[in-house]
This record gives sequence, structure tokens and C-alpha cells, in this order.
Amino acid sequence: MEKMKLLCYSMLILLIATAPLQAQDSDSHGHTHGHDHERDQQIVFPDIPGYHTVKTDFHMHTVFSDGSVWPDIRVQEALREGLDVVAFTEHLEYQPHQEDIPHPDRNRSYEVASEAAEGTGLTVVNGSEITRSMPPGHSNAVFVQDANKLLVDDPMAAFEEANRQDAFVFWNHPHWTAQRSDGIARLDDMHKELIEKGLLHGIEVVNVQTYSEEALQIALDHNLTIMGTSDIHGLTDWEYDIPHGGHRSITLVFAEEKTKESVKEALKERRTVVWYKNTFIGLQEFLNPLLKESLQLEVVGYQDDTSVLEVHIKNPTHSEFILQNESTYTFHEDPDLITVDPNSTKTLLVKTRGIHQSITLPFRVMNAIYAPESHPVIEYKLETGAN
Ligand code: ZN
Repeated sequence: MEKMKLLCYSMLILLIATAPLQAQDSDSHGHTHGHDHERDQQIVFPDIPGYHTVKTDFHMHTVFSDGSVWPDIRVQEALREGLDVVAFTEHLEYQPHQEDIPHPDRNRSYEVASEAAEGTGLTVVNGSEITRSMPPGHSNAVFVQDANKLLVDDPMAAFEEANRQDAFVFWNHPHWTAQRSDGIARLDDMHKELIEKGLLHGIEVVNVQTYSEEALQIALDHNLTIMGTSDIHGLTDWEYDIPHGGHRSITLVFAEEKTKESVKEALKERRTVVWYKNTFIGLQEFLNPLLKESLQLEVVGYQDDTSVLEVHIKNPTHSEFILQNESTYTFHEDPDLITVDPNSTKTLLVKTRGIHQSITLPFRVMNAIYAPESHPVIEYKLETGAN
């Protein structure tokens, strides 16, 4: 048993030592190697025109509320998964570990994490979960200055204080069955008032492994930012089965610069796409460029004496893509629905019925959502190289 362990550790060290070689090898073969866990976990998405794609998780817990780990473990998880910005959002009003870990200062989780993240490139944001019965339910205030000041009796006053601190505030799991037994997100009068007063800016359409179509509709109807978070209490590796290709639920934020201020501004301007269970959810304005940039189509050429065009679909990202053929052509080796695996290259043989100098390939991305039950179409114009 011990020998086995030792062997595993030495293999791990070997893998880390040969990481650049592995990356090269993986590129030329177009797929990853099953054993290279260290590199596999790094979430990769391209920037979109005009914006950096910032990988964020704005909902996490530690022992400073009802989580099971010290804040430095959250920092290590985020680094392993390649995140850029994370917020520590302990429950203000729910402190089950208080007797064992007394901490009158509600900024401590953030401070401990900030120290752990120093010099790593991970940005840590101060936050709090305003934890109330429904309505208003639970909400996160992130980019707060002093979490202690949010600890007040009146829920409305907590939102007002968060906004006084220029925080970004979003409604957590509005579809949580503990507070909505039918799992349907809906607005109560208090939510309407919060939105009207500009005190609530976003809404989770994804929380942990759950997705709410109704919450997405609320976001669209009321111009709230579309959010998705891990709400992690235990370990992300276990909760999301990361060693076997899973990933935590995150929000991709499209920021002009990779700074705290710029990310906050992007959140307030609703520039987000949620990624959960290999599915993308966001406004088409940001969703479509992200999808388009994620897949690179390259023409190899017409196969000998045929009008069958070989095209490579390169997917250097961490996500799978499910594409529905929306073109007038059919494929030689695939049905109309094709799957492109993460970090891979797929060969597509397009029967173009004659030799063309250029063709257009539109795909409906079935694992992307811009409104309830609505999937966007992206289009690639390709020069075939034929005369
Ligand atoms: Zn929470």
C-alpha cells in the first residue's frame, strides 16, 4: 500500500517536471493524457474582442461560517483550477463554528485568504452572505469595505449599507428548495423594492449543481447580472469530481482590465457568462463571441478527387461543445449533432456538393443558453483554398 503511494507521488513529480513537454505532446495529438491531472484542472477560456475573460467564483465558505476548511485551502483550490478572482462570503448571521473559532471581526476570512494569495496572481475580494429567511432569502454583497457594518437587524438596512460601500449585491439560489419548496424562483414585493431602489444588481441562475430557468427569466426581465457560483462548503475536488473531469460552477466576467475595479464595473454592467456542467449561460452579446473565440475552424482541403472538404475544429478550452449542424450541407462521418471534447481537435468531413472557394458553417450551440430553452447560433466563414 505504502509502496503504491510512493510510486504515485513520484509519478506526479515526474508529470510536473515534464509539464511543458506534455503540453506540446498534447497539442500535436489533439487530446489530453488521462494521467496529467495537474494541468487538466486549469480552466482555460479565450478573451473576447475588447475584453479580458476573467474566471471568477463569488460565493465560497470556510470555517469562518459553515464551511469545512481554512481560507488558505480555498486559495489553493482556486489556483489549482486556474481562477482569477474569488470572493469570501461567510454567512453574517449563521456562525455554527463560533464557539470553537471565535472571531468578532467578520473580515477575518478575507484577510487570512488575502495573505495566502499574496504573490500568486489570484485576486481575493471581501464579501458577506446576508443570510435571511425568505423574503429576501440569502444574498451576497461582494467588494465590501467592512463586513462588520452589514451585521444589522433590518434586512433592508443591510442592503443599504452594502450599497453605501459600493458593493455588488446579488440574490443567492432564489430557487433553493429550503426556501422555495417548489424550486421555482419568483420575486416577492421585497425583491421588487430592492431592484427598484437599485440595491440588488444580480441573481444566481446557477448555484452549486442547480440551474433555474425561472431565475434566468427574472435576470432578463429586470436587467440583473446573470451569476453562477460554487457556494462551496467542503472541497471542490469532491463536490465537483474535478479529478474525473468535472469543474466547479463559475462566472466568466468580461472586464476591460484585470483589476478589482474593472471586474466590479463589468459585473454592474452585466458582462457575464456562467459556466456550469459544461453549459454556458449568458446574454448573447457576450455568449456568442465567447463561443466563437473558443472554437477555431481550419480548412485542410478537399479530399482527393472528391467534393468532401476536411475541416478541423480546434477546441483549446476546458469545456465540451455540442454543435447542431445548421448549414445546408451534411457530414460524411457525423450526424447533424456533433460533440467537440475539451482540449481536442475534431475532424469534420463536409460534403459541399461541388467545389466551392468558400463556405459558411453555422452551428447551433446546444450547450449554451441565452434565454429559457434558447440556444445561440454561431457562424464560421471558411476559405477552402480551391480555385
Ligand atoms: Zn452561501
